[in-house]
Amino acid sequence: MDLRYTEDEERFRSEVRSWMTSVLPSLPPKPDATDWDGRRAYDMAWQAMLFEAGYAGVDWPVEGGGRGASPVEQLIFKEESERIGAPYVGTGFVGLLHAGPTIIAEGTEAQRDRYLPPILKGEEVWCQGFSEPGSGSDLASLRTKAVRDGDHYVVSGSKIWTSHAEVADFCELLVRTGDEDSRHRGISWLIMPMDLPGIEIRPLTTMAGSDEFAELYLDEVRVPVENRVGDENDGWRVTMVTLSFERGTGFVGELLESMRLLRELADLAKRTGAWDDPSVRRRIGQLTASFDALWALTKRNVSEAARNGVPGVGGVVFKLSFSEQGQALSELAMDLLDRAGLALSPLPGADGHGDLPNAELVHAWIKSISLTIAAGTSQVQRNIVAERILGLPKEVR
Ligand SMILES: Cc1cc2nc3c(=O)[nH]c(=O)nc-3n(C[C@H](O)[C@H](O)[C@H](O)COP(=O)(O)OP(=O)(O)OC[C@H]3O[C@@H](n4cnc5c(N)ncnc54)[C@H](O)[C@@H]3O)c2cc1C
Repeated sequence: MDLRYTEDEERFRSEVRSWMTSVLPSLPPKPDATDWDGRRAYDMAWQAMLFEAGYAGVDWPVEGGGRGASPVEQLIFKEESERIGAPYVGTGFVGLLHAGPTIIAEGTEAQRDRYLPPILKGEEVWCQGFSEPGSGSDLASLRTKAVRDGDHYVVSGSKIWTSHAEVADFCELLVRTGDEDSRHRGISWLIMPMDLPGIEIRPLTTMAGSDEFAELYLDEVRVPVENRVGDENDGWRVTMVTLSFERGTGFVGELLESMRLLRELADLAKRTGAWDDPSVRRRIGQLTASFDALWALTKRNVSEAARNGVPGVGGVVFKLSFSEQGQALSELAMDLLDRAGLALSPLPGADGHGDLPNAELVHAWIKSISLTIAAGTSQVQRNIVAERILGLPKEVR
């Protein structure tokens, strides 16, 4: 691991910075948080701009439409995006941050040619069909069945918590191709086009009022066998690759955003006088130290991905710590807002201290509750740390 940036990397940083500075003022206003078609259009338009400028898939292979640069340059790109407040991946999350990387690592050449360029050009959106009712933490117990019929799998079952399903073109889908009790040994990883007959999408509304999730009901959906990534019944290994990207590098943008928000909260505390309270200063100091440590861990995970093609188990430590620190950050924001934290519509700052970003922060606090559940709960990440990093005895079921 080398934590310093080379001259070439710094040159790349200033190129990205000047490109972003020139294009950001031309972006249209962001759509409403509940307008999912509008959000897809906005996210994909930004992705298309990145592609045109040569900044889509900075560390993806050139054959897949990427820039073919190093993961360190990808990190620099993210740092600069966050520093200037560029749009985030949004509905592109699954395609860009874990389905695409999984196809790079595990897909066939034909799959890489077919699926990678449209992700980078902002033409196709992906969702993740892993969790099922009764199979979340214990993912290996999933029951959605795929039966081989010639060149197709006939898939029946249901999925839940499928983020962005309503606007997705493809789903990274886990199915059972082995016996009912085959657990890890009987799973396959499929690419399912979302417009196939037999797919029903039922939106679920979160407590924040957004339809970002859905249930998927699959009734004899015919998925071509050529859409399988990895061998039949070897999908658990492929799943571990997907999760290592999702947990190991998928949240880097959110970490940078949290670091920026913490600086803004420190300014807010200074404006409102809360800074005079030593316990507030201590919380800000502790969070600053934690985010700095997570940034160093990110660089380690990225170096590991550069060496091995896939981030290692350090991603689990990142996910566990980041989600808990993210909640602590949101709680700090709510305490600083004081009574303004009870209102979801914008309010002026107390005692003439300027406008408060209260609506934004209250929404972020509600959303932060899901951080320790999404992409695997904290309890489960602790089990993985105990068993795979510390070498403690395996959990008895
Ligand atoms: C914002 C968000 C977005 C999501 N997006 C997607 C998506 O796009 N696609 C998708 O497939 N899924 C998605 N999920 C689902 C997510 O992966 C699951 O919610 C998560 O894996 C937990 O599964 P579960 O909800 O079934 O909870 P359960 O597995 O039922 O867990 C319930 C509780 O029991 C605890 N528990 C379970 N097993 C153990 C154990 N062995 N030891 C100790 N404690 C244990 C858990 O930690 C938890 O507190 C999303 C979830 C959220 C919150």
